[in-house]
Amino acid sequence: MVPGVRLVVLGKQGAGKGTQCVRLSHHYVVPHISTGDMLRAAVKTGSAPGLKVRDAMENGELLGDDLIVEMVAERLAEPDAKARGFILDGCPRTTHQAEAVAGLLLPGALDLTVDIEVPTAQALRRLASRRVCTDCGSNYSVSTPPKVNWSCDVCGGEVIQRQDDTEDAIGRRLELYERQTAPLIKWYESRGQLAKVSGLGSPDAVLRRIIRAVEDRRGRGKAR
Ligand code: AMP
Repeated sequence: MVPGVRLVVLGKQGAGKGTQCVRLSHHYVVPHISTGDMLRAAVKTGSAPGLKVRDAMENGELLGDDLIVEMVAERLAEPDAKARGFILDGCPRTTHQAEAVAGLLLPGALDLTVDIEVPTAQALRRLASRRVCTDCGSNYSVSTPPKVNWSCDVCGGEVIQRQDDTEDAIGRRLELYERQTAPLIKWYESRGQLAKVSGLGSPDAVLRRIIRAVEDRRGRGKAR
């Protein structure tokens, strides 16, 4: 039987986090829990909570910790995540969220936190050419578009540029990443729960590095 995993994935916008998280969730057969995807789905329904968060998201601002933690707590409590684990993507983004997520897990339950590292110039280039499916969130780029007429290869949905992949919003998101999310790398490192992995090269090469980091960690005993 394929073992599950409990993994937090960090990395600045454009590091290839979304792409790797989808692949990791297939590899370990665990749900990919992306707070960004959950929020975009809420916005799409046009519900009152969705409309409330839409403007902040489009401007690249972070949403309140309490809302995010409540959303993640509910999702982690679902049977699939409880039984086999999860790939957590986009959360935590602040130290407060990291503390809250740690509190949601049993001690020693987290296998690892992986930080996917890419230089900012490379991340900016990737973001400018990134295109995503509005239905399932699959990632494409201008140089690797879907096979047919910007319809998603996976689900047939419309593939477009994300609303927050504009120059202003990207600048704001990277600034918030440096200020609020980058300190989490030290936070996890000081707890012996971090592995840094280069995000350069092909998606397959990056995936292999992450899987190796997870397996190394399991071989040496779990994150504390
Ligand atoms: P992402 O797809 O992870 O880049 O998230 C898209 C947007 O959703 C972010 O720019 C924030 O507006 C919001 N968001 C997603 N996750 C979080 C989080 N953990 N904390 C605060 N805001 C978030």
